[in-house]
Amino acid sequence: MAPNPPRTVTNSSGRSPVGRPNATTLPPSLAQRLSDLGNYNVQVQATLSIVVFKTSTASNFPLATWLQEATNILGQHGMKLDVSQGPSGPQVLSYNGGDVNDLNQVEEIRNSAAALFNASATPLRCPIVVCTFRASFAREAVGFTVIDNSKPDRKFSLPNGGSFLPFCLLDGASAFPTTLLHELGHAAGLEHPNAGNETQDVMFPVGTTNANRTKLNGVEIRGLAGGYFSVPRVAPPYRIPQ
Ligand SMILES: [Zn+2]
Repeated sequence: MAPNPPRTVTNSSGRSPVGRPNATTLPPSLAQRLSDLGNYNVQVQATLSIVVFKTSTASNFPLATWLQEATNILGQHGMKLDVSQGPSGPQVLSYNGGDVNDLNQVEEIRNSAAALFNASATPLRCPIVVCTFRASFAREAVGFTVIDNSKPDRKFSLPNGGSFLPFCLLDGASAFPTTLLHELGHAAGLEHPNAGNETQDVMFPVGTTNANRTKLNGVEIRGLAGGYFSVPRVAPPYRIPQ
């Protein structure tokens, strides 16, 4: 299909032409992205780095299973997961706020994590905190990613002034095997519509069925490689505009 020529429209006064952005100059093109949306075989050799912590209320969660699930799915696309944690598992944060139910607690948790790792050390790592959610938190979510996609650096402003690169919370009691990778996708800026209509897609919104989704399309693979925690990092954002 030939690209549409740049168009101009004339405003109501009939004098000043108003230029419209030429969509075909977007790198990479939206057409490429739409093609990637249906392509589940995209390969990108990149390593995604995370650091895992837990709160004292989280116990008996199958972290090894979650990490293996993410490793398996990413591995099908040439990607690797680099995990940092303490010598005997995730380091415990000095947080005593109990089950998470509001952003003040989320901020306290992230501040506690900040005391245990250097967030600007290379490679940059996305913090993943396994904690416990109150049942009502975030519309009964099993995972929660703090990100502001409207900001160039995607840092979300927390209630007491905290502002961090995107990070993820997982509910140790209810997270599914693919929730860790799902939230990491959010931390890269991916949103549920990037799954298209594929219910087995990792970014498909969680429901009572298909909780253990295993597919990633090309938009999501390139999007993950656009995350700040990816080496090499492709130019972000790479997703279908919402
Ligand atoms: Zn989600």
